[in-house]
Amino acid sequence: MSETANIAIPARLRRAAGAAQSFVRAALDLALPPLCAACREPVEGKGLCPACWSKLSFITRPYCERLGIPFVYDPGPGILSTQAIADPPAYHRARAAVRFDEISRALVHALKYGDRLELAPMMGRWISHAGRELLAEADALVPVPLHWRRGWSRRYNQSGALARVIERQSGVKLVSEVLRRVRPTQQQIGLSRPQRASNVQGAFKVASHRQSEIQGRRVILVDDVLTSGATVEGCARALLRAGAANVDVLIFARVADPGRTSI
Ligand SMILES: [Zn+2]
Repeated sequence: MSETANIAIPARLRRAAGAAQSFVRAALDLALPPLCAACREPVEGKGLCPACWSKLSFITRPYCERLGIPFVYDPGPGILSTQAIADPPAYHRARAAVRFDEISRALVHALKYGDRLELAPMMGRWISHAGRELLAEADALVPVPLHWRRGWSRRYNQSGALARVIERQSGVKLVSEVLRRVRPTQQQIGLSRPQRASNVQGAFKVASHRQSEIQGRRVILVDDVLTSGATVEGCARALLRAGAANVDVLIFARVADPGRTSI
């Protein structure tokens, strides 16, 4: 009997300590109003203050139907950018919610490093809206994996957090931990086309025991930011090698120089 008591008391103490901790956290949340993720001013509700919100740059048509890069003028339906024609990516189509700028960078950093997971529902909703046509045709969502070292220090995958919101919004099933990063990739900027291909070659892999979850399916890759495109290119290649029928890409924010059209 004394033995069971010895085991039971620490467990009860642990529970009490945990409850006290969450009570303190809840009390702090009540006492401190949430801050704008970009300018750190106190804000009503969550996320961004009205001034930062108005500076966000949502990506809408006209854009390149392949890469999702906005055009400066409307060339007519279905026209692709010169980038898409000269150097087509392994994935089929990409869509992003917003341009990568000062405000969207602050949101991405707050989610990634600031433990502001409460931003994920808002950001995920914007991605779902930007990608609604792609989601209507998709079978599975696959988040871009972290390198294991980064995953260890950050504890969660922000792309996974966004993909969970998109799953709830769209009903497209999230398939997590199917893709693995087997070696790091360099920045693609400044590399020649063959160098870019070898940079992402073999950087990602679908775990062999999970290939059946990818084979013949229309997959959407989810990531927070697209800069050079090296990461999604490497992931798309791995998914296609594993037998995916189609790979599209959804991102929160992309670097978006105005796309030149082919005409
Ligand atoms: Zn603000």
